[in-house]
Amino acid sequence: MEFEAIRNGHLECDKGFVTLGRDMGKIIRIPVYCFLVKHPKGNVLIDTGFSVDFEKTWGKRLKFFKPILEKDVVQHLKGTKISYIINTHLHIDHSENNPYFEGAEIIVQKEELEAATHPKPYQKFAYADRIDEKLEYRIIDGNLDLFGDGCVKIMKTHGHTEGHQSVLLNLDGKKIFIAGDACYSSENLKYNCLPGILWNPDLIMENYSLIRNMKDTLIIFGHEEIESI
Ligand SMILES: [Zn+2]
Repeated sequence: MEFEAIRNGHLECDKGFVTLGRDMGKIIRIPVYCFLVKHPKGNVLIDTGFSVDFEKTWGKRLKFFKPILEKDVVQHLKGTKISYIINTHLHIDHSENNPYFEGAEIIVQKEELEAATHPKPYQKFAYADRIDEKLEYRIIDGNLDLFGDGCVKIMKTHGHTEGHQSVLLNLDGKKIFIAGDACYSSENLKYNCLPGILWNPDLIMENYSLIRNMKDTLIIFGHEEIESI
C-alpha cells in the first residue's frame, strides 16, 4: 500500500502555543502535514491542511499564527481521486482544504463537528469562521476500522478538542500512528506538557499514555518534522 506524507508548510508561532509553560515567548516554526494512503478500496487523505487563501481566510489568527505555504495540497493531489478524508479534528490548519476534494466522504467524530460548528470561546479562533455543513460527512462516534481489514483504524483520542481522532495504519505490516494533535510533539510527550490550545487536560494525559504504550509503531506527532518513514 502506498503512503505519502505531504508537507503543506509551516506555522510560525509562539512556542507557548505548542508546549504550554515551556520556552514561552520564543518564536518557532512547526510543520503541517497531510497523509495519503492508497488502499485498494479507495484513497484516503488524512487531514487537508491550510489553503492557499490563508491570507484572506485566517484574519485575526495571523497575529498569532503565520502560515508559510510550501505546497498547495489540492494542486498536489490533482488527478488523485480521494474517496475518504479523515480529519483528525476540524481546526483550520487540519481541514481548510476539505471543500476542494469533491465527492470525498469526510469522516469526523460527532462531537467534533458540533464543536467546530458551535465552538467554545477559548477554541473559537482555532476553527474556521464557518464550517461548510453541506459537505458529505460520515459522522462517527468512537473507533472505526475503515475497511474492516485493520489497515486504517480510526481511534477516538479526544482531549485537544472534543472530538479528536487519530489513525493507526497497518501498511503491509508496518504500523504507523498518525497522532494528529492528540500530541503535538515528542517534547510534549517527554515532559507531559499540554498544548496551548486544549479542551480536556486529563484526556490529553490519557492519550500520552496510550502513545507511550504503543509497541513496534512509528509515531507521527501532530506538529513535528518527520525524519524518515
Ligand atoms: Zn489542533
